[in-house]
Amino acid sequence: MSTVPALEAVSAASGFRRTEIDRRPVGPRDVEIEIDWAGICHSDIHIARDEWGATSYPVTPGHEIVGRVLAVGEEVTGFSPGETVGVGCYVDSCGTCEYCADGRENFCAEGVVATYNTPLPDGSVTRGGYSRGVVVDERFVLRVPQALDPARAAPLLCAGITTYAPLRRWGAGPGRRVAVVGMGGLGHVAVKIAAAMGAEVTVLSQSLAKRQDGLAFGARDYFATKDPETFERNRGRFDLVLNTVSADLPVEQYLSLLRVDGVLCSVGLPPEPYSVRPMALAARQRVLTGSMVGGLPQTQEMLDFCAEHGVESEIEVIGADDVDEAYDRVVASDVRYRFVVDVARTLARAGA
Ligand code: NAP
Ligand code: ZN
Repeated sequence: MSTVPALEAVSAASGFRRTEIDRRPVGPRDVEIEIDWAGICHSDIHIARDEWGATSYPVTPGHEIVGRVLAVGEEVTGFSPGETVGVGCYVDSCGTCEYCADGRENFCAEGVVATYNTPLPDGSVTRGGYSRGVVVDERFVLRVPQALDPARAAPLLCAGITTYAPLRRWGAGPGRRVAVVGMGGLGHVAVKIAAAMGAEVTVLSQSLAKRQDGLAFGARDYFATKDPETFERNRGRFDLVLNTVSADLPVEQYLSLLRVDGVLCSVGLPPEPYSVRPMALAARQRVLTGSMVGGLPQTQEMLDFCAEHGVESEIEVIGADDVDEAYDRVVASDVRYRFVVDVARTLARAGA
């Protein structure tokens, strides 16, 4: 057992304080990682503020982790000390069910173990990347290609795979029209990845304030959703609408943007239910679906794809004491485009 400096929230309204947390001893198949960078995902905010009603306090969020291997257990074959590695949303699963066997650990039949806020059989609760170190089964450790900047790669561990998976599943590529709704952390990565896949990308953002950025990320068009004409102009246009918005949306309005057989896939997870009349789906045989992160093999595929195509997150680096302020700015859509905590410099071990 070792202890590492970390941040924790003790209630929905507490904000973060510094603490020390325990990490388990390095087991035979474990990789011990010294964390350098931790991205701030809007899911961290939903959970730290108990917006999904399932938070175990104290909570240490963080599932966009990049660091270096410090030590490996004797049975580890894939990693060695000094390598730059990542950890995303998951740290364990049964490893034997049909989904795990298929590399879709995110759907593990026994319940996947999230990087933070998952209760374990011993009574403890997993703690995430707002900490200086973590010990993870090697099956859940990703190789960060050297072509990627480690800080700008961190958000790919969640924002990258969460958008890559549905873009692949629903066939984003040449000749396909993809709309990305919301250009925050997930959305800006989605624009870059969909463009790199060869799709014709349109951004639907609340205003035109980030239009230049969207076009620079690879979008062909950029419209403001607060302008009702946007929905008239783009009616029936898209093969795929990827919704990354963290708040409620009038979903039928977005369905109207789809071609026959078009897909509206939500990765944004606001707590409120959708209101959809069956006719809005039946009329053009539209598909309304969602997507949850992705499996480990596809996460590695995504990192390799991003390295090959020069896709990295746009980030604003902050210190460990700036997380509360960063949360408020994310909620206000005032983020360009992902906050990443400089763990190495601002959450160091005592005496380091
Ligand atoms: P984010 O950085 O806050 O981006 C969300 C974007 O949504 C904002 O930048 C904004 O884009 C738009 N938006 C925010 N409030 C809005 C409102 N009231 N009306 C319309 N648009 C609004 O958040 P994120 O980290 O990308 O996460 C987005 C959502 O995905 C969260 O709900 C998160 O929990 C969820 N998520 C899901 C998965 C999964 O596996 N399904 C994984 C990770 C995250 P514009 O400024 O461009 O309008
Ligand atoms: Zn996330």
